[in-house]
Amino acid sequence: MGCDAVCLGEFDFAKGTAMRVLTVAAHPDDETLGAGGTMAWHTSRGDEVWVCILTDGVTSRHDRVALQEECARRACETLGVTKVVFVGLPDQRLDAIRMLNVITPIEECVRELQPDVVLTHFGGDVNEDHRIVARATMVATRPVAGSSVSRVCSFEVPSSTDWAPPIPGSVFAPNLYVDISETLETKLTAMKAYADTYHSEVRPYPHPRSVEALTAYAQRHGVASGLLAAEPFMLLRESARHGMRGLSGVDGA
Ligand SMILES: [Zn+2]
Repeated sequence: MGCDAVCLGEFDFAKGTAMRVLTVAAHPDDETLGAGGTMAWHTSRGDEVWVCILTDGVTSRHDRVALQEECARRACETLGVTKVVFVGLPDQRLDAIRMLNVITPIEECVRELQPDVVLTHFGGDVNEDHRIVARATMVATRPVAGSSVSRVCSFEVPSSTDWAPPIPGSVFAPNLYVDISETLETKLTAMKAYADTYHSEVRPYPHPRSVEALTAYAQRHGVASGLLAAEPFMLLRESARHGMRGLSGVDGA
């Protein structure tokens, strides 16, 4: 069993045990948009996946927080996620909050789950909440002695990531692709749960958050990596505790 590209899950093959994956998102829907196919792949093979969502995602527009959370739960349930943590910070206002209040809930998830891999936003996204969550996650996963975290990656959120201006630090340049050819349909099903929010997060094509566009993104990144469908990541930090084992083809995984 193996991937044509370097694959998040290859880590697990090297260790021979189930992995733990933590996805840290600013808003309900970011987790599915950015890493839904990857999370579904992990849960399908018995890995434990948690999602931590920092803001309510709606109070800059309306007050239907409970409905938004219900849709997020349904989406994550479709993906096989074990636990969803809703931190409940105010949407689009993380820049008015002390950084420690953003970092601490992420640290608590890391302490409790002891994840091998942490997935979060790209620090150059056009959305300020995304950028703050990306910075907070790097602090919460700092490589202190005894940390469980081997790998930290940023994901792409169709719309926010590709609407960023082409200036240094804002260009998403993936160097890690996860094969989601077997889980793309699950990702799209999960995303459809967000069509039931008060203001649907799923938009008509050609909006980047349409089902058709998400399919096109997956195919485009697949084309870039020799796969039928892929989710792209930027590897931000890796502590290779198993030498170069874990890389595709190196240890015969
Ligand atoms: Zn977002």
